[in-house]
Amino acid sequence: MPIKLMVFENGNTGMVAICDVCGKRCAEADEANVVWFPPDGDDQAGDTFDVKITCKGTCSRKLMSHAENCGHSNAYSQDLDAGLYFLLQNSGLLPLGGKKMKRAKGVAEMINSMSF
Ligand SMILES: [Zn+2]
Repeated sequence: MPIKLMVFENGNTGMVAICDVCGKRCAEADEANVVWFPPDGDDQAGDTFDVKITCKGTCSRKLMSHAENCGHSNAYSQDLDAGLYFLLQNSGLLPLGGKKMKRAKGVAEMINSMSF
């Protein structure tokens, strides 16, 4: 599962993207990919697919090679930053300056301001 909750050095927590190949945190969204392997056949509205997240470059190539060796004939990817934009859009948080995003930011800041 490439999305995990991380505890940071200052004690704050937050969701982070983890590379499914090397296990490192993908701290720069424009330096990582979202990858998925749909089965053969026509995609239907409402279909969902598990995704992998990889660092661009070596980790991405390793995942694609592994998938090919495992018989996945279809492999698709997009930049993680674009994928996260779609996640925000599909979660109802856009526009970025909108009411829902401002509320989410406020809750996150309140959580980070708590000391445990
Ligand atoms: Zn990696």
